[in-house]
Amino acid sequence: MSATPLPPLRLPRCLLDPGAVHLPAADADGLVAVELEHAEGRFTAIKPYPAQAEARLPLALTPLLEPHAHLDKAFSWERHPNRTGTMAGALAANQREHHERSVEQVHARAERALDQGWRYGLRAMRSHVDSLGPGAEVSWEALLDLQQAWAERLPLQLVALVPVRHWATAAGEQLARQLLGRRGESAAAAGGVLLGGVLGAPFPPDGADGEGLRALLRLADGLGCGVDLHIDESADGGGAGVALAARLVIELRIGVPVCCSHSCSMSQLPVRRLLPLADAMAEAGLAVVALPTTNLWLLGHRDGHTPAQRPLAPIRQLQRAGVTVAVGGDNVQDPWYPGGDFDPLDLLRFSMPAAHLAPWQRQGLMPFTTASSRLMGLAWDGVVRPGAPADLLLLGASGWSDLLARPVPRRVLRAGRWLPAPSPSPLQQLLEALPA
Ligand SMILES: [Zn+2]
Repeated sequence: MSATPLPPLRLPRCLLDPGAVHLPAADADGLVAVELEHAEGRFTAIKPYPAQAEARLPLALTPLLEPHAHLDKAFSWERHPNRTGTMAGALAANQREHHERSVEQVHARAERALDQGWRYGLRAMRSHVDSLGPGAEVSWEALLDLQQAWAERLPLQLVALVPVRHWATAAGEQLARQLLGRRGESAAAAGGVLLGGVLGAPFPPDGADGEGLRALLRLADGLGCGVDLHIDESADGGGAGVALAARLVIELRIGVPVCCSHSCSMSQLPVRRLLPLADAMAEAGLAVVALPTTNLWLLGHRDGHTPAQRPLAPIRQLQRAGVTVAVGGDNVQDPWYPGGDFDPLDLLRFSMPAAHLAPWQRQGLMPFTTASSRLMGLAWDGVVRPGAPADLLLLGASGWSDLLARPVPRRVLRAGRWLPAPSPSPLQQLLEALPA
C-alpha cells in the first residue's frame, strides 16, 4: 500500500522522534516544520520541510489525554448547581444528585462526554466513579458497558472512588474483589479498572485515613491494579497526605503504580519543606495529576474575598524532583465546577496563566501529552515516529499565541483517517441564520 502524505505542518520537537537526526533544530517556539506520511494506520516517514516556506503552516499536536474526569456526574450542574462555589456546597449537591442517579442517566452523560472528548481529539480517558452510596451500582453498570463500547475509539480507565477508610472494611475488600474479579486479571493489568479513594477531610488525614490507605495499597498490590487517590485537595494539611502515601509505598514495597490526584496542600509549604517532600514522592515513584480548574474554583474561599491563596499541585517543583505530572480537567459542568467541556486544548489554554505552563516549553506540554500517557500506562507515548499510530490534531493556528488567543478549528486524525468535522450546534445555526 502506498503512503499517504499529510499537508506540511509544524510539530513540537518533543513530540517528534528524538532519533530523527535528519530533522533541523527546533525554532525558538520549540517547533519543527515537517511533512509526515502514513500507511495502514501508522506513520511511515518524517521529512523536514524547507524552512523558507513555513510561515503560515498549521500547528499540530498528537492527540491529548484526559487523566482525571468524573463521567458519572458530568453535565449534572443544570439540575444540581452549586452556586456558592464551595467544597461543602459541591458535596451537598453531589449527594442530592446521587439519590436520583439511574443507569440511563449516567450512560447518557458519559456517552456525551466520551463522544465530545473523542471529537476534540482525546485518545484516552481516566474517570473516577462514585463507588459508595445510592448511585454507585448504577454508575458502574453504565460505565463498564461504555468502557467496552468505546474501547477502540477512546480507551476508558475507571477508578473506584470511596472514602479511603472504606478499604479497611470487609465491604471495601469485597468491593475490590467484585470490581476486579468482574473484569478479570487481564483487564486490571491493562489498566482498565483501578482503585482510588479520598483522604480527608479533616486535613491533615487522621489515623483512620492512614489505616484505609494502608489497606488500599495492600489490596491493589495483591490484585495487580493501579491506585489513583484524591489526596490533599485543600489549602490545609501541608502535604501530609502525599507524605503518608510516599512513606507507605516504600514501607509496604508497593509495586503497582500509585497516582496522587490534586496534591494541592503541599504548595502552601515553605520551599525548605516542599522540595524534600517532592524528592520523597519521586523516590516512592508517585505520580501526580494536577487539576487547576476545580482547585482554583473550589479552594481558597475566605469570607467572600478574592482569594490570595491558590492551592494547586506545585507542578514545576515536582517535575524538577523527577515526579511524573499530568494535568486533568476533573469536573465538567457538575456541582464541583460549572464549566469545562472535555476539550484538552481549552485546558491547555487555562493552565498557562493558572500554572505557568508554557506550551512552547517541553515541561509545559508534557503534562498534557507524554507524561499523561506514561502516568496512564498507555502503550504509545504520543511521540511521532515511523510505526507509531497515525494520530494527529491538526489545528487552525499558525503558532502558540494564535492557539492561546481563542478556540481554533481543528481536525483529528486517528489511525490515518480524519474524524468528521464537527457540525455546528443548534444555537450556532440559529445565530448563523440571522440576516447579514
Ligand atoms: Zn476528581
